[in-house]
Formats: sequence, C-alpha cells, structure tokens
Amino acid sequence: MSLFIKVDIAFERCAGVSGCGRCLRVCPVNIFTKDGSTGSAKADLPLLVDEAFDECTLCDLCVQSCRPDAIRIHKLYEGVGSPPAKAAAE
Ligand code: SF4
Ligand code: SF4
Repeated sequence: MSLFIKVDIAFERCAGVSGCGRCLRVCPVNIFTKDGSTGSAKADLPLLVDEAFDECTLCDLCVQSCRPDAIRIHKLYEGVGSPPAKAAAE
C-alpha cells in the first residue's frame, strides 16, 4: 500500500467496465483493471491495483475521463484528497 497516493472509486456512481471502462483505457500505469470474478456482483466494476498506486503519475486522465466523477486521487502526503475535476471547475 502506498504511503503517498490512494485512488478511490465511488462504485455507486460507476457505469461499469462494459458500460464505460475509460479509466482502464487511459491510465498509463494500469492502476485500474477488471474484476474477472464470474458471477460476482462486482464483476463489471473496475478493480484497483493497490500495489501500483506508487506508479501513479498524477496525470489526472482517469479523473477527467470519468464522467460520473466517481474517481478521486488522494495525495496522502498532503493529507487531503483532490476534488473531482468537474467540481473543481465549477
Ligand atoms: S471511468 Fe469512472 S465510470 Fe467509467 S469505469 Fe472508470 S470509474 Fe467507472
Ligand atoms: S492520475 Fe493518471 S496515473 Fe494516476 S491513476 Fe489516474 S490515470 Fe493512472
């Protein structure tokens, strides 16, 4: 687990990998993957690869591509989470 970065998804807002999946496509370091569990209620939700959090470049592509604003990047070294991109622009 990273001491510096934490990525969170508000799964109740997520459209699912089959309905969206943009976070999986844009992240250059593959922090998002698909839960392959068949029959699981979470099977279509992105799975976060916690071990890869230290690879996060803070490029913000996932946040910008997530239209329902479900993704948050927490900068643990600052002790605060970054606001969703759309909320910050309002
Ligand atoms: S980009 Fe957002 S809505 Fe789309 S799959 Fe990823 S977390 Fe879900
Ligand atoms: S900010 Fe960039 S590197 Fe970090 S999780 Fe999002 S897309 Fe991946």
